[in-house]
Amino acid sequence: MQLSEFDIIQQFFQKAPLRSDVVLGIGDDCAILSPPPNENLLVSTDTLTQNIHFFSNANPFDLGYKAAAISLSDIAAMGGKPAWALLSLTLPTVEEKWLASFSEGLFSLLDLFEVTLVGGNTSKGPLSITTQILGFTQNSVALRRSGAKVGDAIYVTGTLGDSGLALQIQQNKIQKDFFANSDLTFINTRLNRPTPRITQGLALAGIATAAIDISDGLAADLQHLLSASGVGATVYTDQLPLSEVLAQHTQPPNSYQIALTAGEDYELCFTLPPSNMPLLERVSASFQCPITCIGKIEEEEGLRITLPDGQLFPLRKKGYQHF
Ligand code: ADP
Ligand code: MG
Repeated sequence: MQLSEFDIIQQFFQKAPLRSDVVLGIGDDCAILSPPPNENLLVSTDTLTQNIHFFSNANPFDLGYKAAAISLSDIAAMGGKPAWALLSLTLPTVEEKWLASFSEGLFSLLDLFEVTLVGGNTSKGPLSITTQILGFTQNSVALRRSGAKVGDAIYVTGTLGDSGLALQIQQNKIQKDFFANSDLTFINTRLNRPTPRITQGLALAGIATAAIDISDGLAADLQHLLSASGVGATVYTDQLPLSEVLAQHTQPPNSYQIALTAGEDYELCFTLPPSNMPLLERVSASFQCPITCIGKIEEEEGLRITLPDGQLFPLRKKGYQHF
């Protein structure tokens, strides 16, 4: 028998609230939530649309996982602690197997970060997935894009360009045959199940001066941070953190181009004064991902990407743009 909208919600999305700050979860016109009294609320929303963010044959577990990941990544970029999520799901048809797997992927990540799904919307139409995330700043310290100062060092977490490489293979721009299975698994996991850098963001709050998560490509997203801060920067191509897989399968300058512009890394790019470097070294010891200094903040506006010989790197495009 065909499941109704309410069967779908009950069967796949309504779980007993895990958090004590959820006074009322899914089932009423609104959820009732009880934020900590002295903290600011962080709120963000993201949409995944078929043929733009994913293809029709995308694995539903991965879609659920990624829907949670990209929202959590926004909280990470603010140095916040995630708490609650909402899900607006538009489905062309009701396929129980698809929904079970989507829900499993979504909750695998929400549960990991102790986030409770507290509401949403379910309707019929072309497949589209929107998640809202709510979280708190810890001790009222949020990492904004606007705090970078001249003299700050620029860092990124993890490695850049792996998702971009996976996407190029998916789009048949690079031949899959050249890759070992383990390498394909690595880059596909980076693309389909990005790790939101929540623990890293929390540790950076109070240490970093500014932060952004890299969704559209380092060059584009760093430029947002620079504009918001009213500063410029130089980034050095030979300091860009490339995974072994990317370094092995691409040659400079193409590897730099991918690392700078391909997007979907969901790593954090952040700035801090040199005086905070010892503190960063201490907190990053438990990060479970590398952090790399890639450049410095300067007074002259704009982003300069510099090759080892001092020449400017000719960026073909800055990053993904919808319009
Ligand atoms: P309303 O019509 O008042 O907006 P709905 O009937 O659409 O409420 O939804 C019933 C309840 O189920 C609400 O609490 C809503 O937040 C929740 N909900 C609807 N769709 C989803 C979903 N995909 N995931 C989680 N909660 C959902
Ligand atoms: Mg209502």
